[in-house]
Amino acid sequence: MSISIENPLHQKALLLARSYQNLEFQLLEVLREIEFEKLHLRLGYSSLFVYATGALKLSEAVSFNLINVMRKAKEVPQLRAEIERGALSVSTARKIVPVLTKENYKAWIEDAKRLPKIELEKRVAEAQPEMTKRTEITRSSPTRQRLHLDLSDKVLEKLKRAQILLRSSKRENLDLAQTLDQVLEVFLNAKDPIRKAEKTTVSSKAQSVLRTASGLRRIPSPIRHAIFKRDEGKCQFRGGSGNICYSDQNLQIHHFRPWAMGGDHNLDNLGLRCWAHHQVIHENG
Ligand SMILES: [Zn+2]
Ligand SMILES: [Zn+2]
Repeated sequence: MSISIENPLHQKALLLARSYQNLEFQLLEVLREIEFEKLHLRLGYSSLFVYATGALKLSEAVSFNLINVMRKAKEVPQLRAEIERGALSVSTARKIVPVLTKENYKAWIEDAKRLPKIELEKRVAEAQPEMTKRTEITRSSPTRQRLHLDLSDKVLEKLKRAQILLRSSKRENLDLAQTLDQVLEVFLNAKDPIRKAEKTTVSSKAQSVLRTASGLRRIPSPIRHAIFKRDEGKCQFRGGSGNICYSDQNLQIHHFRPWAMGGDHNLDNLGLRCWAHHQVIHENG
C-alpha cells in the first residue's frame, strides 16, 4: 500500500503542528506583556510562574520553558524571530537559554535548529562547565526522599566539620543526613519568623510595649512575631481576581496606614506581604 504525502491525516497533523507553534509564540508575547504590566501581581499571584501554573493551568515544565525563553528573547530578539517564523520550538529554544548572548546567538541558534536534542544538551553543558548540576530529588520510601546534590569541596568540608562537632556534643554517631537535620534545626530556630512567633504570644505587656514604642520606626519583635503568626507566615495580598497570594517567600510587613502619615505598629494596621506585592501596593498607592 502506498501512502502519499497528500494523505489527509498527515496534512491535518502538519496544519495542527504549525498552529501549535504559532500559539506557543503568541503565549510568549502575551506573557511578556503581562509581566511588563505586572498584571499577574495585581491579580494576586506572587510571580509569573505561579500565575502560569495557577491561573493558566499550564504544567510546571511548560511554564518554566515559556518564561525563560520569553525573558531571554527580550535580550536576544533574534531568538524571538526564529520562534515567530516556526523555525524553533519553545522547548528547543529553552535548551540554549543558559548560554545564549547578543554576541554568540548566530552559532547557538544554528546549533539548536540543526543538532539532535541530546547532542545540543551536551554542547550546552560543555559550554558552562562551572554551572552546578541540577538538584534531583527522588522518593526512596513513603517518608524519605533521596537528594542528589552537586556540592563544592568547601561545602562538604563544612558539613563534615559540623558532623564532628555534633558527634562530640551529642555523643551520638550522626550520619550526614542527621547532621544536616541538626544544622537546619539550629538555623531555623534562630532565623525563622514563624518559629519565633510560635514561641511568643502577644501579651498585654507587648501591646503596651507597642504603644510606648510607637515613636520608633522599627517594628518591635513581639509585634513582628504576632503578625507572622496571624498571617500564617504568608502573603495575604488579595488580587483583583479574588486570588490570595499566600507566598511564603521574601516577606515584608506593610503598614496599611503609612508610618509617615501617622500609622502605628498596631496589629490591625499591619499585614504580611511578599516583596513583589509590597512593591505593587506602594507603586499604586
Ligand atoms: Zn508597606
Ligand atoms: Zn504576595
